[in-house]
Amino acid sequence: MNRKYRRAVIAANWKMNKTPSETRDFCTALRSMLPRSRWCDIILCMPAIDIPSGMRVLKDTRVAIGAENIHEKASGALTGEIAGNMLADAGVKYVIVGHSERREMGESDTRVAAKLRAVLDNGMNPILCVGESLEQRELGVTEEWIAMQLKIALSVVKPEELKKVVIAYEPIWAIGTGKTATPEQAQEVCEFVRSVVRKLYGARPARSVPVLYGGSMNEKNAFDLLAKPDIDGGLIGGASLDPEKFMQIVHAANQNND
Ligand code: PEP
Repeated sequence: MNRKYRRAVIAANWKMNKTPSETRDFCTALRSMLPRSRWCDIILCMPAIDIPSGMRVLKDTRVAIGAENIHEKASGALTGEIAGNMLADAGVKYVIVGHSERREMGESDTRVAAKLRAVLDNGMNPILCVGESLEQRELGVTEEWIAMQLKIALSVVKPEELKKVVIAYEPIWAIGTGKTATPEQAQEVCEFVRSVVRKLYGARPARSVPVLYGGSMNEKNAFDLLAKPDIDGGLIGGASLDPEKFMQIVHAANQNND
């Protein structure tokens, strides 16, 4: 990470894990471990039902609560969906969009763009996920694929709004598989992500946008991944479910803050 130009961000993605009571216990434990001095940004993206529990325990800390999904429409006959104003009113600051697990459920790039727009329209910050499958990597089309995902999603983001966006590079073959990209592989694509942002918005915005790596990041490999210049943090699934492990990743980011 390059702390001269951008902040470090460590974000949890709990996926479909933890009840409201488990959320309270996790957040209480995390609260007791929060570093007192140097900080990276910490975000906990959790199931919608858990948000009030997380918010209650962490309300006067610098930990931000995020959501894992949003509907692109403002309201309507959409049983079971959650609108942006509901999340914002609950105090949510970040929303994951374009996660490969949701793309797998049928979310297209244009839908991801519409969701990203809904996040911004409600004053929140999108965490935009992009990433290639193993097949795409082996075919040598990783960059083309990621450039397309970025161009479509960012087509709805005005230059002055880019500072609200966090991008996460998440190779699908590394998510939940225990198969982490090497720091070199992750750096190569995160650098490429930044180069696409540079082409779309110019040098200065590209230098400031946080680009995270996600895909089996854990307390053992975080330090080496976060030492790479274009990896500004992590989006963490499995290892974010345990407060101690998650905190060790936060410490790895803080150590790399020098
Ligand atoms: C994720 O869900 O975004 C993720 C990176 O999961 P994991 O850390 O478990 O691979």
